[in-house]
Amino acid sequence: MTTVKSNLITNGNKKAEKVTRKCVACGSIRPKSELVRIVRSREGEIAVDLTGRANGRGAYLCRTGECLKKAVSSKALNRSFKCEIDKDFIESLFSELM
Ligand SMILES: [Zn+2]
Repeated sequence: MTTVKSNLITNGNKKAEKVTRKCVACGSIRPKSELVRIVRSREGEIAVDLTGRANGRGAYLCRTGECLKKAVSSKALNRSFKCEIDKDFIESLFSELM
């Protein structure tokens, strides 16, 4: 059983490398590794998901200040999460990343 489990983990990692996601700000499709995942938990808490595996609804953004600004001004994240997201809060999340 232990062997089966480790095989699953390996397969999962291989798959993750090829996975692409769409940036909610500029709409470009990039490998997941080049994007930042923003996640909204069931409790409504917004966070930057550095593991890419947190539970909840996720939205992806390029790791650039440009897409962050675009996401804030176009309210792309508000649309993705279907709720109002504080602009200052998003900016503070990203300032930690850059
Ligand atoms: Zn982008």
